[in-house]
Amino acid sequence: MTDPSVKIIFLGGLGEVGRNCACIEVNGRLIMVDCGVLFPELDMLGIDLVLPDFSFVRENAHRLDGLVLTHGHEDHIGAIAYLLRNVDSLDIYGSPLAIEFARGRVVEHGLAGKANFIAVSDNEIRDLGSVQVEFIPVTHSVPEAFALAIHTPLGVILHTGDFKIDHTPVDGRKTNLARIGEIANTVGVKLLLSDSTKAEEPGFSDSESSIKQSLGDVITQHPGRVIAASFASHIHRIQQLADVAVDSGRYIAVLGRSMKRNISIARQLGALKIPEDRLIDIEQTEGLRPREVLVVSTGSQGEPMSALSLMAAGENRWITLYEDDLVLLSSHAVPGNETAVGRVIDKLMRKGVRVVHSAIAKVHVSGHGRQGDLSTMMSVARPQNMIPVHGEYRHMWHNADLAMRMGLPKSNVLICQDGDVVELTDSTIAVVDKVPAGYTYVDGTVGDVVEEVIRDRQVLAEEGLVVLVLTVDAKSGKILYGPEIVTKGWIHAPEAEELLDEARQAVAAALEGIETEGVYDPEIFRRRARRALGKFVAERTRRRPMIVPVVTEV
Ligand SMILES: [Zn+2]
Ligand SMILES: [Zn+2]
Repeated sequence: MTDPSVKIIFLGGLGEVGRNCACIEVNGRLIMVDCGVLFPELDMLGIDLVLPDFSFVRENAHRLDGLVLTHGHEDHIGAIAYLLRNVDSLDIYGSPLAIEFARGRVVEHGLAGKANFIAVSDNEIRDLGSVQVEFIPVTHSVPEAFALAIHTPLGVILHTGDFKIDHTPVDGRKTNLARIGEIANTVGVKLLLSDSTKAEEPGFSDSESSIKQSLGDVITQHPGRVIAASFASHIHRIQQLADVAVDSGRYIAVLGRSMKRNISIARQLGALKIPEDRLIDIEQTEGLRPREVLVVSTGSQGEPMSALSLMAAGENRWITLYEDDLVLLSSHAVPGNETAVGRVIDKLMRKGVRVVHSAIAKVHVSGHGRQGDLSTMMSVARPQNMIPVHGEYRHMWHNADLAMRMGLPKSNVLICQDGDVVELTDSTIAVVDKVPAGYTYVDGTVGDVVEEVIRDRQVLAEEGLVVLVLTVDAKSGKILYGPEIVTKGWIHAPEAEELLDEARQAVAAALEGIETEGVYDPEIFRRRARRALGKFVAERTRRRPMIVPVVTEV
């Protein structure tokens, strides 16, 4: 019998916090771990989402035995609806909550017929053909998160998922370190894939329940209405807010589409417990005294159309803010969102609203483990090899460094990147191949947008647009009209008149005599006109707007 072949193909999440996605290949069969989105950065103009490149999956769909989900965050489940377009059907395994969070989007896209959702329970082992996958509970900022023990013929690949080691979790469901230790002591952990998000930070992450006191103080001590914003998937945080509200005689109203949806799903599954008589519609808050109201809202990341941003702008149809309101941001701005969040806070404060956020009170803790959590995981799992996942390069570097400081030889720790194909043998680990793993952009309902489109938008945004209009006689090549120049966002109008005149002359001069050269070709017209105008614009204004020559033949 030939030696077993085990490969890990990274399709996303290595070098960015987002679009987490990998395939594990065992003896020619594949399973996929997570399928998430990346939220666009500021310079990705007009882009709604960034996806993994699914071309590897598309080409190998016939070998795919299922998708397993570590947990229900968008950076792990948000791209499933797009993945399904590339396969005929797919078994998708995850916790009940992750499954229900994922199902909503898939149904919205009309792809429910392709997905076979399979809810698994804590510590369950599922046979996916070439591998057995064990779903091990871990603590994180969404309930029912899993680490995955993927049992292969070469030993266990342990994927931590996103985790911290919370000894006093809100729902009492702890990271099952005992089981991980048992695996380490029996079959052994061949390879650890470990969350790197907070690997730069020493110490341990605080327990989610450690902020209960502080949340309680802020809410109970405020004599008026409280509006609390948080991630819509952070069910434990919502539970804590609701508990404080109930204890202090407040009713809970919910604002924002995703918040409403997730709260409803979590309550149905029993992952969130709010007494029926304490949950009211937003309209009902009108009849209550302000100190009897807690509104739980979306918008903790400063998202422009969210309930909180609309409130800050005075445009929320349900809530008008008054000076005696308090807004509690029980969250931390995700990198890239700091400016937007700061702006929302400023707007709220200009209205005289009191704002409490994580910089001034302990109203947020991270769901990702710091070095203490990561090293605890490593000392329990005692892996033979380690690859950091889930993070920017610097996060992965620190996670790798930690593994080596804990005694793993350098040859057994790999820092990989998206697209790397890693091969495991009994004694070695190495990158052996590459697959496409670039960004796939989603722009509205339109499919893929290429890099070039984004570059064009950046030029348009930063430098503006200059359009050159020419009408040419198709037979003689004689210019019948133009050159005329129309600009947007290039230079300000008053100074522009003269400059535009000169630009027209420069183009006309460049085109002079072109019809007598006997080489009439609209492409030559276009190229020559564009070059002349580009040169003029660059020399005179030191700018590089997008230049679009429009040559019409009659
Ligand atoms: Zn997560
Ligand atoms: Zn994540």
